[in-house]
Formats: sequence, structure tokens, C-alpha cells
Amino acid sequence: MLVYFIRKCKAFATRKVNANMRHTLALLLAFLLCGCAPSGDSKKTIVASFYPIAFLASEITGNEFEVKTLVPAGSEPHEFELTPRGVAALNDASLILMNGLGMEGWESSLSPSMKEKTITLSQGLETLSIDGRVDPHVWLDTRLYEQMGKKVYEGIVSIDKEHAQIYADNYALFCKKMVDLRGYCNEIASSFKQKSVAVNHAAFGYMAAEFGFEQLYINSLSPNEEPTQKAIEDIIEAISSQGIDTVFFEELASDEVAKKIAAETGAKVDSLNPLEGLEESEINRGENYYSVYRENMDKIARAKP
Ligand SMILES: [Zn+2]
Repeated sequence: MLVYFIRKCKAFATRKVNANMRHTLALLLAFLLCGCAPSGDSKKTIVASFYPIAFLASEITGNEFEVKTLVPAGSEPHEFELTPRGVAALNDASLILMNGLGMEGWESSLSPSMKEKTITLSQGLETLSIDGRVDPHVWLDTRLYEQMGKKVYEGIVSIDKEHAQIYADNYALFCKKMVDLRGYCNEIASSFKQKSVAVNHAAFGYMAAEFGFEQLYINSLSPNEEPTQKAIEDIIEAISSQGIDTVFFEELASDEVAKKIAAETGAKVDSLNPLEGLEESEINRGENYYSVYRENMDKIARAKP
């Protein structure tokens, strides 16, 4: 067994095994590590898969739980793979929060005890489809994000009734901030006519549907898909014919194709953040879901047509 495990570890290290096998090994390794780790008396944790999910948890829990995010700051979640450290965090968590709809590719490697304490926030939400696939970027619809916040609130109260009043107050404040955000965005959007926005990947479908613009995307639902030559030609044609003056890239994904398309069409480039993650520096200077969302709307408003 030990020889088998060491062999597997070597394969794991040299990435000769497929993603599923790596997940399984990460789980096995973490179980072994957890077996000898001291339990400690540190704060109880909520583990969230990636930024907007973790932000909801932080808003609702305040200081009562420590919120850990599996996808580190500065990384994008689409291609994220679980690490042994991540598995250990999932084991220790009082509550696990996920987006669902395929954003957590490692979901199938959760153990039964992890699944029992997991809430999938997109469950039951009215979703959109893009290119025949369900669009997972539900957190960019402010109304859906509020519903996700309600699920987080109910989930946290269910594991800590003692502090229910704190969570109720935090949840009420969150809802108020979302109403303010929506008001701001609606006012900006009222100046839109038939706005087309060229973006790196099709992350902005919910935002576009809510605030009345159209996204022209280079990559489909994941930022790392290789766009076809035809897709690139189509977007160049659309940018030129519609007088689009800005091609938006994302800070957490490659900007190579976006810059190439901008150069070809004479458009300028700017960043638009699908809120899949923030850079460490952004978090440190106090940026968050609300501020980045507002900034996105401001940039969309400034872009032509
Ligand atoms: Zn995405």
C-alpha cells in the first residue's frame, strides 16, 4: 500500500495522472495530514470556493467565523484544481459554500461528510444559457446575488443560532448595499441605448441582461478556451461595423488575443472585472464586490457605442 501510495505521489508530482486522480490523491494526502494535525481552538471556519462566494460569507458572518477562499487571490477559478491544503480546509470547515453550475470542477471529489455541510448557492436560481450551455456567472446579476446572500444567511444561522441576530443585521445591511448598488447601476444604464461591449470571455451575460447591453465575447464561458479563427474574424467585423472603441480584457486571464483584436480594429484596451477573483493589491486597498461592480458599470458607460 505504501509503495503504491509513493508511486502515485510521484505521478502526482510529475502531473502524469489525470485531474480526477489528482483530486483523489489530494484528498488521500489531506486525510493523512489531518490525522496528525492538532485540532486547536482557533475560530471556526467557513470555506468558500472563490471570491464572490467568499465575499457573501464575509458580509453575513462579520467576525463570527473565519472565511477561507479556496481559489487564492489573483487566480481565476475556472481551471482551479484542489490542493491538499484546500482539502484540509474543507475537512475542517463548519460550512462549505459553492457557486455550482460547473464553476467548481473539483466538486465530484468532495467526500460524503464534506457534501453534507455544503450549500450550492446557484441551486434553484433562474439561469441563462450561452452557446447551448448554462451560464455559471450568476453572481453578476445583482438580484440573483441577493438571493445567494439569503442562502448564505440561512446556512450560517442554521449552524450558529446563538448569533442569529448578528447575522440578521448583517444580512439586512447587505440587502441595503445591494439595493444601493442596483440603483447606481440602473441610473448609469438609463443612458445606454443599444450598447455593445466587447469582452474577453462570456462572463457578463447576467449583467448585460439586467442592465440592457449586449456582450460580444472572444472566448465562450471560460477565459481559457482557445477562440477559433472564425470567432476572431466575427468579433473584428462586429467591432468595426458597430464602432466599438474599447476591447475589454481581464486581469486574471491572458490579454493576448484581446490586445491583438484591439490592434487590428484600432480600438483601445481596458480591463473589466468579472468578479471571479480580485488581486491581493485590490483587496488590500479596500476594493470589493460593490466597488468593482460600480467601476465595471462606469467603464461600460464610457465605452462606445
Ligand atoms: Zn468566467
